[in-house]
Amino acid sequence: MENTHYLLLTPGPLTTTRTVKAAMMRDWCTWDYDYNNLVQEARQKLVRLAVKNTDHYTAVLMQGSGTFTVEATIGSVIKPSGKLLVCVNGAYGKRIVQIAQVLGIPTVVCKAAENEPINVEQLEKVLKEQTDITHVAAVHCETTTGILNPIQQITKIAKRYGKLTIIDAMSSFGGIEIDMESWQIDFLISSANKCIQGVPGFGFVIASRDEIKKCKGQARSLSLDLYDQWETMEQFNGKWRFTSPTHVVRAFYQALLELEEEGGVRARQQRYEQNQRLLVKRMKEAGFQPFIKEAYHSPIITSFCFPTEDFDFVSFYHYLKEQGFVIYPGKVSQTDTFRIGNIGDVHMADIQALTETIEKRAVCL
Ligand SMILES: *Cc1c(COP(=O)(O)O)cnc(C)c1O
Repeated sequence: MENTHYLLLTPGPLTTTRTVKAAMMRDWCTWDYDYNNLVQEARQKLVRLAVKNTDHYTAVLMQGSGTFTVEATIGSVIKPSGKLLVCVNGAYGKRIVQIAQVLGIPTVVCKAAENEPINVEQLEKVLKEQTDITHVAAVHCETTTGILNPIQQITKIAKRYGKLTIIDAMSSFGGIEIDMESWQIDFLISSANKCIQGVPGFGFVIASRDEIKKCKGQARSLSLDLYDQWETMEQFNGKWRFTSPTHVVRAFYQALLELEEEGGVRARQQRYEQNQRLLVKRMKEAGFQPFIKEAYHSPIITSFCFPTEDFDFVSFYHYLKEQGFVIYPGKVSQTDTFRIGNIGDVHMADIQALTETIEKRAVCL
């Protein structure tokens, strides 16, 4: 086991740098000021990554995987009298609907096919008809397929109708340039183990300061109370309410520094785009077609259709794993696909090596 090393092309968790992993080789106290100062710095850095004009925005970190933070947001920001519209074209949009249903929040769905972006005319029609909707939620990069949704168009319409906007930017934040203010996003959700390139253990929300202040006492859960967590971090200099994933946060801080060293989100986006373009080009040469139109691709992850009906994904997976690459099974409901992510500490040479390995096997078949 010790010697088994493979590249994770599975966001996430994803491949992290040695230095990010090494940052965890020290124990940290959850309430000591050394650690709390680190949390405060990470929160400030997150706000700076999300918006140019930082004055009206704030960040809050939440224990758990990304879904816990989505649930904390949905469960804390919607008033008892509220109603949520969710844009759905994949598994993560569906998950938001599921969360709202479990929490008993009235929900409407604006649905598109898994290989199509959200249709904004359809969205407008629903908003016009159902005036009691208070919040619009959408997924930026739907990791199910890798499709990129037109967030700026979605929020523009939502704002025209006076709605608050919640964006699941889990798999895009840090890897695609976003400006919350001009994009009119009130709550943006992401997690440690995606494009910031940290290890899993917590998620975070960057929010409009005015809007998060209004969420007091609204949460439908104690531990997933976003307002309370935020208020504690504000009042007590970065203190978490309950035990925090200290080592993960320390590694995350290192990952934030490495993002800066790389040249920020723009430079990282360029690397991801180069990775993704090379991946698609080489995969097509090896006989694999992407599931969605190239115009809709994100630079994050790509879904490929099985090349033949009797394609044996399990043996393909094990072959690649033996050669040092771990890929993702598909998540599309109607078509047989698999996914290859190219975020994380992954470079052109890795994509080159991966696709050569795939080609070699295609030749053997
Ligand atoms: C990864 C991801 C999530 C959260 O998944 P977890 O497994 O809970 O971390 C949510 N939405 C999107 C779009 C994602 O890519």
